[in-house]
Amino acid sequence: MQVGVPKEVKVHEYRVGLTPASVRELVAQGHPVLVETGAGTGIGFPDEAYLAAGAAIAPDAAAIFARAALVVKVKEPQPEEWRLLRPGQILFTYLHLAPDAAQAEGLMRSGCTAIAYETVTDGQGGLPLLAPMSEVAGRMAVQVGARCLEKEAGGAGILLSGVPGVPPAQVTVLGGGVVGSNAARIAAGMRARVTVLDRNPRVLDALDREFGGTVATLFATTDSVGQAVTEADLVIGAVLVPGAAAPRLVSRAMVGRMRPGSVLVDVAIDQGGCFETSRPTTHADPTYLVDGVVHYCVTNMPGAVARTSALALNNATLPFTLQLANRGFPRALLDNPGLAQGLNVQAGRIVHPAVAQALGQEA
Ligand code: NAD
Repeated sequence: MQVGVPKEVKVHEYRVGLTPASVRELVAQGHPVLVETGAGTGIGFPDEAYLAAGAAIAPDAAAIFARAALVVKVKEPQPEEWRLLRPGQILFTYLHLAPDAAQAEGLMRSGCTAIAYETVTDGQGGLPLLAPMSEVAGRMAVQVGARCLEKEAGGAGILLSGVPGVPPAQVTVLGGGVVGSNAARIAAGMRARVTVLDRNPRVLDALDREFGGTVATLFATTDSVGQAVTEADLVIGAVLVPGAAAPRLVSRAMVGRMRPGSVLVDVAIDQGGCFETSRPTTHADPTYLVDGVVHYCVTNMPGAVARTSALALNNATLPFTLQLANRGFPRALLDNPGLAQGLNVQAGRIVHPAVAQALGQEA
């Protein structure tokens, strides 16, 4: 099957749908791959690396969309890309259609078969193509939080690890899922004092076993959250209620009781945020102050570490990309029910029940 990889066109998006290593796997299984010139240049994958992996290079996106049977991307297509998509062409990418009626309309009009990374499931009901970005964001949350604690970033001037004779920072992590557990690992590795709060006893149990007591776990109630937040130097917001806005665990009043120079990193901002004082920010202007507390609320944290993110994303997507290329539509989806969960748009209709419901349409 002819596979195509356009260069991402969203502002500041440097990730790429297929890395050269993924291209080599596809080519080895007999699939020609066409990559738009410059698609990977921003993260150290020049055209020569793709040529060496067996791809051909196309001069523009139009050439990719005109020839590929399977288009592999990272972000949702932009309006100029909707016009290039063709009926029956398979599009495999992040879509996040539920809140985006214009995108849904554009894809329906194109007649393409759109399979969304974020709704593909694994055997355990997990979301294997969302998890890598949560791993990245969770680990990065500690890195950016540590930076924000520095004086000229508005922070209290605290080194996360402390030094001999000076105590480390207190890090409070709200939610112990993929983001939260990764944040806890890095914070503990940097020798901070770490407390993770969650409502799911199984999550707390798994963390307790993993860390053997070096990370404290707390059942999340209004009282325990209030106390852990006001005592913290760095709070990382990592809660998720699937399909819903993030619960607002931290009120304005709680923020007012925090020490000035403390830091809030709200990773859950892409679902509305779990601090009442959160509002979305960008990598260009990532932080602001409320009552002297530094807020970092960037909605696409993995974009800042685009090379790591693209590699992690490819590790997760490649098995599915190979299945799509090898078996085609609909056989690949009939073979793999988890991949079938990714089907969002087909033949001009929204076919994923939850996405259709969110958009007020019939699946
Ligand atoms: P997850 O489902 O693995 O973990 C969420 C955890 O929150 C679960 O353990 C759950 O029990 C817990 N939780 C839910 N309600 C709670 C409550 N009231 N109190 C305490 N704990 C509660 O989800 P995840 O993959 O870790 O993602 C977390 C958030 O991070 C999501 O909103 C996700 O979209 C977001 N995210 C943001 C970025 C970014 O760039 N900002 C990147 C990746 C992920």
